[in-house]
Amino acid sequence: MSWGFERGRIYNRRIDIHGRFGGQQQGGIITPSAFKLVVIITGDEGLAHGYADRLRPDGAFEYFGEGQLGDMTMQRGNAAIASHSKNGASLLLFRKMKAGLRFEGEYVYEKHHTEPAPDRMGSMRDAIVFELRPVESVIEAIEDLAPASANLELLRLKAFAAANPAPSKSTSITSVFERSQDVRDYVVARAIGKCEGCASPAPFLRKNGIPYLEPHHIRRLTDGGPDDPRFVIALCPNCHRRVHSGADGTEYNGDLLKKMKAIEIY
Ligand SMILES: [Zn+2]
Ligand SMILES: [Zn+2]
Repeated sequence: MSWGFERGRIYNRRIDIHGRFGGQQQGGIITPSAFKLVVIITGDEGLAHGYADRLRPDGAFEYFGEGQLGDMTMQRGNAAIASHSKNGASLLLFRKMKAGLRFEGEYVYEKHHTEPAPDRMGSMRDAIVFELRPVESVIEAIEDLAPASANLELLRLKAFAAANPAPSKSTSITSVFERSQDVRDYVVARAIGKCEGCASPAPFLRKNGIPYLEPHHIRRLTDGGPDDPRFVIALCPNCHRRVHSGADGTEYNGDLLKKMKAIEIY
C-alpha cells in the first residue's frame, strides 16, 4: 500500500499529487506539510548536464538531490529524504514520462554520498547522491532472521542508534537492512513473548525458538525500513491484520500509539 498509487501507472502531478496532498509545485522533491510523505521525481534532465539518477547492479537506486547552483546542502528536500524513516514518512518515487508521472514504488533511504557533478551553469560542485532501496527488498531481507544477541539493553541501544543514523560519506557500512533488523530485534525482545497490542502470548515459536510476533510501524502505512523504536510495536498476527485490514484498523492503530507511550518511556 503506497498511498493508493499503483506501480507502473501514470499520474498527473497537479491532480494526483498536489490535488491530494499539496506540496511544492516546482522541483523534483515534494514534501507536503500535512502528510507523512516525501515524493521524489526522477527524470532525464541531469543527462543534459552530464549526470543522471541510476539503478545500481545491487538494486540500490541512486538519486541526485536538489540544488541548482553550487554545492548541494543537506536542507529542505534533501534533509527530508535523509530523515524520512526517522520522521515516519513514506518515500515515493515517480519517473517523469511524456504522459505524466509513472509511479515506480516506495523506497527507503539507506545512505548518501557526495560526488562531483556539474550544476545548472556547468560548474563542477559537490552533489548529494542518495542511495535508496525498494521497500519490498527491505521487508524480505529482514524476514526470518534471528537476533544476534539476547541482551535487551544492547538491543535497545542498537535500535535507537538505528533510528538516528549519522548520514555521512559512503564509508558507512551499516545498511538499511541492518538498521531495520536492529529495530525489529529489539522490539520483539522487548515484548517478551506477548503481543503488545492485546497481551496474548505469541501463537507459536519460530524455528530458532523465538516467539513469533510481527513488528508494526505505527506511523507508517508500510512496515519496511528502520524507524524510531518508540513507533514500532510487536504484534500477534491477528492484531497486525486488524490494523491493516480491519474495519476499525485506523482506530486500533491509534490505541496502539497510546499503548506505546507507556511501553517506551524516556
Ligand atoms: Zn495481539
Ligand atoms: Zn503493520
